[in-house]
This record gives sequence, structure tokens and C-alpha cells, in this order.
Amino acid sequence: MPRNLTATTLTGAMVHNLARMRTLIAEAHQPTPGGALQVQSRQDTRLWAVVKADAYGHGLLNALQGFAAADGMALLEFEGARLLRERGWTRPVLMLEGPFDAGDVRQAAQQQLTLAISQPRHLQWIAAAGQPVQVYLKINTGLNRLGVTPAALPAFLDALLATPNVQLAGCMTHFANADSPGGADTPLAVFDEAVAAVSARLPAGSELAHCSANSAALYTLPASLQHWARPGIALYGASPFAGRRAPELGLQPAMRLQGEILAVQTLAPGEATGYGGRFVAESPIRIGIVGCGYADGYPRVAPTGTPVAIDGVRSRTLGRVSMDMLAVDLTPVPHAGPGTPVELWGEQVFIDEVAESAGTLGYELMCAITARVRRQTG
Ligand SMILES: *Cc1c(COP(=O)(O)O)cnc(C)c1O
Repeated sequence: MPRNLTATTLTGAMVHNLARMRTLIAEAHQPTPGGALQVQSRQDTRLWAVVKADAYGHGLLNALQGFAAADGMALLEFEGARLLRERGWTRPVLMLEGPFDAGDVRQAAQQQLTLAISQPRHLQWIAAAGQPVQVYLKINTGLNRLGVTPAALPAFLDALLATPNVQLAGCMTHFANADSPGGADTPLAVFDEAVAAVSARLPAGSELAHCSANSAALYTLPASLQHWARPGIALYGASPFAGRRAPELGLQPAMRLQGEILAVQTLAPGEATGYGGRFVAESPIRIGIVGCGYADGYPRVAPTGTPVAIDGVRSRTLGRVSMDMLAVDLTPVPHAGPGTPVELWGEQVFIDEVAESAGTLGYELMCAITARVRRQTG
């Protein structure tokens, strides 16, 4: 029998979280009490559900179910895009990092994928594709990863407009600091100016989608809710903000990682548990050994005190996490023994709490579950 350690994807929570994004958008488009619209230009904002990295570790096919009501799917893996098409996803698909070779461009043309482009070689591959390809032009507004800078935009646009097969469907940018107050104000202004410059080069009446908001911006920057938004983390029920948890954002966790107690030890004062003896008992204590470790994706750096829920009762980890096991404090659950379920994260312990304790983000934890963990959809 495989070990009793299961990552369950909760597709009902995914449905809820997507609907929550629609509510945020509706609120942003509401007239304010003063009479002015918070968002002047748009009636509605469509949603790309970001499903890169196997839907942030939740499984791409689960995303098809959970995000069936999305207007499009955005990811960067071409194999994933192929799977979406094979499984019947007919709405738009946006490839966030563009093509990686000429073959990707041919696939995009055949399967009607939209490519985010920013590099001269992207244009060369598209010119050679022999068929029309839809693209989003990616603008660099300060994150300085991918994207054309405003300074380089006129020359890139010349090249783009001279390239055969290019169908320019929109412009996008990705914010570096949408999770801090005001952090995306200037980048949004830079983006709007760049998009205006692009529009000015197109025939009158051309439609150009504007797309900038990630999860954080959906909450903090209504003005960034343009034609399309691109939430990722919020759809999985985790927070894009340090110190703010899922419930206050109206989100439901979409992943539960649950294991069980394999053995119980009783430590006398002065005895320790785990490598390095990092936890030493001050008084007699019962501890549970849980079948989950860093080879399953649980963070090794999570220190003593990281929250867990043992049979529904919150408790804490003790000592170092090892490759296959970790120890928990059974003091608040005297009835616990071998076979008692332990939630590492989920609805009782938010993934953001574990991440905070381990000095990382929910994003990293949900993507890091390894292949030996049993998978379920609930
Ligand atoms: C991952 C990603 C997103 C989603 O970001 P979240 O913070 O998870 O909402 C949006 N756009 C791009 C380009 C991305 O790479």
C-alpha cells in the first residue's frame, strides 16, 4: 500500500475563488458614492486563469474543471497547452513566456494559442510559420524580466508591423510590486502610455486588449482591471500579500496536504527529537511521528512551532523536518495515535501560515509537492 500522504485538490474551492475574482471586478466597475466610476473605460474585465506549473501544483486537468468558467487559460508550458486543447478547451490560451523555438510557433498557429512576445527571434519564428499567429506584445514596466522597454518600443513595433503572420491581439505587462500599496501605480501609467503608443500605430478601429492585473492588483488597483486580468495564486485560495490570509480575502484553500501519525514517542525531560536534536523536551511530552518530509515537498526549513492540525486540533511541529518524517506535539490531542490524520496545510492550517513560518510563500509550497505524494481530487 502506498504511504498515507495525500494532496487533495479541492475543485469546489477553485470554482468559488474564480467567482470571487468576478465579484472583485464587479465591485471595481461599480459607480462610487461620489458618482465617479472607479474604472472609467470598461464595462467588464475578462479573466485568464493562470495555470502554469501544472496549475500551481493542483493539476492541469483539475484546473479545467475548477476554472471551467474562466474566459481563457494562461500558462507557459506548450505540452500543457496541447493537453488543454486535446481535452476540449476551446477558449483562448495565452502563452506567458512566448515561444521557445519555431516549433512552438507552428503549434500556436495550429492550436490557436496566443503568444506573449518581446524578442526579435520571436518575430523571426513567426515570419517563418507560414500561418497567422495571435500575439500579445509584452511591455516591460519595471520588473525587468521579459518585455520590451518603452524606449525600445518604437523600433520593436516597426519590426513587428513588418512581420508577416503577426496578428496583434493585445498588450500585457506584469507588475513587480502590486502587493504593496501604490507599488504598481507608476508601472500602470507607463503601461497605459505604451499601449497608447501602440494603438496610435494601428489602423483606426483596431481592437487591442489591455492586460496587466495579477492577483494582488485585482485587490489593490482597480484601475488595472482593463480588458483582461491574470490572477493565479488567489484562484488557488492563497494570499498574494504578506500577513493577509485567505479568509479575509474571501478565498478558500484549494489544496489539502494530509498525512498520518506513524508512531508515538514519549520524551523525558532532556530528551530530543530529530536530526541535530533541535527540540529538547523540558517536561515529559508525547510526540507523533508523521509520514511527511522534505522529499514530499514539506519545507525542511520550517522550524519548531510551524502549525499543523492533528485530527482537527491545531498543534505544532517539533525539531527538524527530515526527508521522510516530521514530529508533532500531541499535547493538545491526548487521544492521537498511529493512524490519526494530520493536516499539514488545507482548511485548518492555511498554506500561508506554513509558508510564513518557513520564510517563503504559499506559491512555492503548492508547486513543490513531489511525485511520491498520492493525488486526489475532492
Ligand atoms: C504567474 C503570473 C501571473 C499570476 O500571478 P499571481 O501573483 O499568481 O496572481 C500573471 N502574469 C504572469 C505573466 C505570470 O507569470
